[in-house]
Amino acid sequence: MLFGNADLNYVWANLSQMQIGCHVSISGGIDKSVDNAIERECSAFQIFTRNPRGWHAKELAKQDITNFQEKLKNSKIDKFATCAHMPYLPNLSTPKEDGFEKSVNTLISEVERCAELGIPYLVTHLGSHLGTGEEQGIKRLVKGLTKAGQTKNDVMILLENTAGQKNSVGADFEQLAEIYNQLKPSKKFGICFDTCHAFVSGYDLRTEKGVDDTFSKFNDTVGIENLKILHLNDAKGELGCNLDRHYHIGLGNIGKKGLGAVVKTANKKKIPIILETPIDSTRDDFENIRIAKGLA
Ligand code: MN
Ligand code: MN
Ligand code: ZN
Repeated sequence: MLFGNADLNYVWANLSQMQIGCHVSISGGIDKSVDNAIERECSAFQIFTRNPRGWHAKELAKQDITNFQEKLKNSKIDKFATCAHMPYLPNLSTPKEDGFEKSVNTLISEVERCAELGIPYLVTHLGSHLGTGEEQGIKRLVKGLTKAGQTKNDVMILLENTAGQKNSVGADFEQLAEIYNQLKPSKKFGICFDTCHAFVSGYDLRTEKGVDDTFSKFNDTVGIENLKILHLNDAKGELGCNLDRHYHIGLGNIGKKGLGAVVKTANKKKIPIILETPIDSTRDDFENIRIAKGLA
């Protein structure tokens, strides 16, 4: 069938609708995250499914799951623009046996919680080898991820590029690809690209050319088709400093021009954008989202 005017309008409306939002709180109930997202005019959002600072997770109550799903369905937010982030304590590259087991179990549990909630993506950090070397760290990491990838559901685990702190793995795209390529089944795994982490691990995102070069390197290694979520954060630190400190959009060392080019690239590929910017006296997330939208 040929495109009529109405169809074309529909296509354009869809193209211009960027998916963008931020990490939102679940305090007061997991369904409150949807309210928080709507209040901030998000068309994408990220949550922790539970307290990120502990090992323990209380089981999700049936009513909370229903409320979350109902609110999401009644909102304009596409479910494929939502994701969850792993809690902070797990370390999938650790040489400590009990720590590794606990970490893998947490990953599996988070995958299952996402499945219950209908959240398609779970973002995970790649961990620290704690001085035992990258090769050993990656071996454990791949083992842990593979185990979690065997769960029977549609949740995709997204590997987040790291800031390149001491003993971390997965900061450079070659290594991220090396890890990703070992994971089976591949449909259970994807990538989350964090602009702050990429910048402080040495990828210059300050100019349009820098962004083009970085994304073409990313495409040559990891493959842009595997990129499912983009974390849009400015950086407090300098290029290549390995400091994981996020900053307000346009006010950090990446700046407006570079982040604008990233936003345009993500929009072209229809990749949901999530801000993980600080909330302080300089700015709140309402304002960071407004400014990020303006960059498109
Ligand atoms: Mn992260
Ligand atoms: Mn991130
Ligand atoms: Zn970070």
